[in-house]
Amino acid sequence: MSKIRLYTFGGYSEIGKSMSAIETDNGIVIVDMGGNMDELIDYQTSHPNITIQDTSELISRNIIPNDSEFFKEKGKNVVAIVISHGHLDHAWATPFLAHKYKAPIICTPFTAEIIKKLNKDFKGERLNLKIVPTGGLINIKGIQIKLVPITHSIPQASLVLIKSQNKNILYACDWKFDLHPLISSPVDFAELKRLGNLGIDVLISETTRIEEKGSTFSESVAENMIEDALIKSKDSKNIFFTTFSSHIARLRSVIKIGRKLGRKILVIGRSIDEYFSAAINSGVVERRELAEVIKEDRFVKKAMKRLKEGGFLVIGTGHQGEPGSFMSKLAINHYSYALSKDDTVIFSSQTIPTKVNIANRSMLQNAIMDSGAKIYDNVHVSGHGSREDHKKMLELIRPKIYIPAHGGIEKQVEGIKLAQELNYKLNLNTFLIGDNVHFDIE
Ligand SMILES: [Zn+2]
Repeated sequence: MSKIRLYTFGGYSEIGKSMSAIETDNGIVIVDMGGNMDELIDYQTSHPNITIQDTSELISRNIIPNDSEFFKEKGKNVVAIVISHGHLDHAWATPFLAHKYKAPIICTPFTAEIIKKLNKDFKGERLNLKIVPTGGLINIKGIQIKLVPITHSIPQASLVLIKSQNKNILYACDWKFDLHPLISSPVDFAELKRLGNLGIDVLISETTRIEEKGSTFSESVAENMIEDALIKSKDSKNIFFTTFSSHIARLRSVIKIGRKLGRKILVIGRSIDEYFSAAINSGVVERRELAEVIKEDRFVKKAMKRLKEGGFLVIGTGHQGEPGSFMSKLAINHYSYALSKDDTVIFSSQTIPTKVNIANRSMLQNAIMDSGAKIYDNVHVSGHGSREDHKKMLELIRPKIYIPAHGGIEKQVEGIKLAQELNYKLNLNTFLIGDNVHFDIE
């Protein structure tokens, strides 16, 4: 009788460092190789030039998953590595871990661009990338892998369907149900129902925002919120806007609206430039839909001198108050332009509630408030499903076994409770699984 064994390396009892391996009779598929971004930010302040020579150090500091033992015992049975989407908590560790496996790295074009960039930055070895379009299907040594398109807060995110002999496993980290996304197709409930009809043995699904009531609003709602905030700020001398650098849809929206309202657009920050290049190179958007990005500090300083004319919309990094980001430098008067009561600052984000972020963000906010500038906070909708979305996912997929992941024990427990409402039974067909364990499913 065929069996499934799930190995968890990270991303179950924590957000970050996502990595799982799924073993079937035909071989092992690894899904995701993420970084622990909180630990990384801390480490990078004293180690700015990380390379793949630092792999063991990164493992020992809990920044990347520890797959050393697994690699020794099972590495030769790994037939494929799949990266579900380009967020760094799912993809950052790829250059450090993937090259030692004799297996292709399967991902969509946008995700591949991100991995290539990381690999170049960390001076990694050549990676065997196997780029497939969203919705693409690939067959490796008797295992079929499908990248099922799903809406999230980054382009070309996928659910990962693994079919091996008579077993079907669906990995759903991360996702939301967006009926009006701005740069991808709407969520296809019929496709999810078809997956359910296939008979899914195991569903591993993220629970990042499962405690939120209702259903997460569409990205088009965020676009309306941005337009509202920008129109209400029309008398502001300059408007400063910050959001996630990887959120291409959001950045495209603010550029579009800013142009429509006659603002002069300045986009600042190396990471935004990198994601823009990835989006253009992979055909997610056209160059004209985005804008030129200023990266080097000396050019930023020069551009900032123009701000005294007024009429600018400045888009920059630093929504979590990261030290060294554009917003933090602006707030501490690193540039010749000082914020004043005539300006508006828009945070198109929510503070990710870790100790480091909360402290950084509150320092940034205080500095902005001291300047007298107006603040719009949380002009944002999440990229993760809420409670009703999770319920719908379970109803559509009807997995034999449901494993909530991604978010810590409290959120996983919310997932279990929700499943119990749908008649799942703890330790029979829904399980609470931590990190660095293996789990057998008959
Ligand atoms: Zn994500």
